[in-house]
Amino acid sequence: MADFEGMPIGFIGLGIMGKPMARNLAAAGYTLVIYNRSQDDIDTLLAEGGQFQAAGSPCDVAERTKAVITMLPDSPDVRDVVLGDNGVLPALGTGHLLIDMSTIAPATAVEVNGAVRERGARALDAPVSGGDKGAIAGTLSIMVGGDAEDVQRAMPLFEAMGKTIVHVGGAGAGQIVKACNQVVVAVNYAAVSEALVLGAKAGVDPDKIVQVLSGGLAASRVLELKGQTMIAHQFAPGFRTDLHRKDLGIALSTAGANSVPTPITALVTQLFEALAAAGTGDLDHSALVTVYEEMAKFTIGDMG
Ligand code: NAD
Repeated sequence: MADFEGMPIGFIGLGIMGKPMARNLAAAGYTLVIYNRSQDDIDTLLAEGGQFQAAGSPCDVAERTKAVITMLPDSPDVRDVVLGDNGVLPALGTGHLLIDMSTIAPATAVEVNGAVRERGARALDAPVSGGDKGAIAGTLSIMVGGDAEDVQRAMPLFEAMGKTIVHVGGAGAGQIVKACNQVVVAVNYAAVSEALVLGAKAGVDPDKIVQVLSGGLAASRVLELKGQTMIAHQFAPGFRTDLHRKDLGIALSTAGANSVPTPITALVTQLFEALAAAGTGDLDHSALVTVYEEMAKFTIGDMG
C-alpha cells in the first residue's frame, strides 16, 4: 500500500512534544489536520500558517485524513481519543493508519491495535525518546511496534520527526522498549543526582564534577544535557516529573506481568514518589536532584 505523500496527516495532542513534531511534519511538506484538548495549542499552530487546519474532534481528524498521529499524556487519554465519544475509531476503515507516539501501557497499545484492526484499519505504537530538544531538532529515537508493511508506510512520517527509527516487534513492543528506556533514564538521573550532591556537599565545585565526568566512562546524555541545569536549579519542563512517574509505573507493571524483578526501578520509583509528594509534578524530571538535596539537607545550587 502506498505511503501518505501528498495527503493531509492528522495530529492529536499538541503539547511540549506534539507541537514541534507537528511543525517538523509541516516543514517536510505535509498539511496537518490538528486537534488538542486545550485551544491555545491549536491557535499557536494555526497562527504559523496554512499547513495547519483545525478539526473539531478526534473523529473529525480521522474523517479528513488517512494517517492519524496521537501524542497524548497517558493510557486513559489514548483510550479516550481512540475509543471514546467522538473518538477516531468509527471514522477508521481500510487504508487508515493510526500511529500512537504517546508513552502508554503496552496492554493498552495492544487493545487499541485490536480495536483498530476490527475496523479494517491498522495501528502502530511508536513512542519516542530524545525529549523536547529532540522533538524540536527532528532527531527523536522512535521505537515502533506493529506490522512491517505498516512501519514502511509510516517511515517518511517518522523520518520527518526522528533520526533513529527501529521496528522492534509486533503490537505493544514499542511500548515495552519505551518502558526499558524510561528505566535507564530514571536510574541515570538518580545516579547523577546522587553523585552531584555527594561531591558538592563534600566540598568540590559541582561544575568541575560535571566537566570531568563528561569526558570519562561516567559520561551520559543526562550528564551532558542536564548536569549544568540541575546545578542551577533550572527545572522548566522538558519532561514533567509526573509523566516519568507514570512511565515507571508502566515499567513496574510490565515487569510484574513478566515475572522480572526490577529492584532498581522500584527504588527510583520511590524517589519520584517523594518528588510528587513535594508537589513538583509539573517540574522537569531533572528536579529529582532536589529529593537528594532534601535528604542530605544541602543545596548544590548554593555552591554552583
Ligand atoms: P504534554 O502534557 O505537554 O502534552 C499533551 C497534550 O495532549 C496537551 O496539549 C493536552 O492538552 C493534550 N491532551 C490531553 N488529553 C487530550 C485529549 N483527551 N484530547 C485531546 N488532547 C488531549 O505532554 P508531552 O510532554 O508532550 O508528552 C506527550 C507524551 O510523550 C507522553 O506520553 C509523554 O510521556 C511522552 N514523552 C514526552 C517527552 C518529553 O520530553 N516531554 C519525551 C518522550 C516522550
